Amino acid sequence: MFLDSGKTLSTCGRNTCEECDVSGRLKCHFNGKQLAVFLGMVAPLFIIAGYSIFIFNPLFMILWIAFALSYFGFIEIRVMCSHCPHYAEPGMKTLKCWANYGSPKLWKYRPGPMSLMEKTVFITGLAVIFLPPVLILPMLGQYLILVVYTALLIAWKTGLRLLFCKRCINFACPFNAVDKAARNLFFENNPEIKQAWGR
Ligand code: SF4
Ligand code: SF4
Repeated sequence: MFLDSGKTLSTCGRNTCEECDVSGRLKCHFNGKQLAVFLGMVAPLFIIAGYSIFIFNPLFMILWIAFALSYFGFIEIRVMCSHCPHYAEPGMKTLKCWANYGSPKLWKYRPGPMSLMEKTVFITGLAVIFLPPVLILPMLGQYLILVVYTALLIAWKTGLRLLFCKRCINFACPFNAVDKAARNLFFENNPEIKQAWGR
């Protein structure tokens, strides 16, 4: 279900994760608890966003769902996840991580930073998915739902940073918050990735 925690990443030059300085700082391996926390954080946002768009226009909701599925299933995987060391795992046809679990690996692995275009597509896609309620709810006079949604959005971004982005091995992501020292430790163990980052 997840990468064997007893095995190193395929990009890693070490034979074992035991006594690795990276293992306490970053998450090279994922588990069901992390996935459940991530889904638990993001599900209320999707429910409220979907409801808001539905009461505005049911047809828009269908288009919004179609976009969200194609974004998280294909677009985001190309512009962001294809840069992630987890994406490099051979023998996995779908991602087995703490966020986009199950998304197909249709693109080739691209170690190194995201381009400006990739970052723009990544951020624009997230805005298309999560910002409509902020525009729609005031038009509908649904201020209470707007306050709840905005609070959840802020809590999600804060929680994401603290629980995930500070320990995520995809340094290319614009949200990545891993400190320089931990990045350098990871680079030392993953020479191909170090080279792709020009270090
Ligand atoms: S960097 Fe360390 S924790 Fe990560 S896969 Fe390699 S040995 Fe394991
Ligand atoms: S960037 Fe995040 S969501 Fe994408 S494969 Fe890596 S860990 Fe999973």
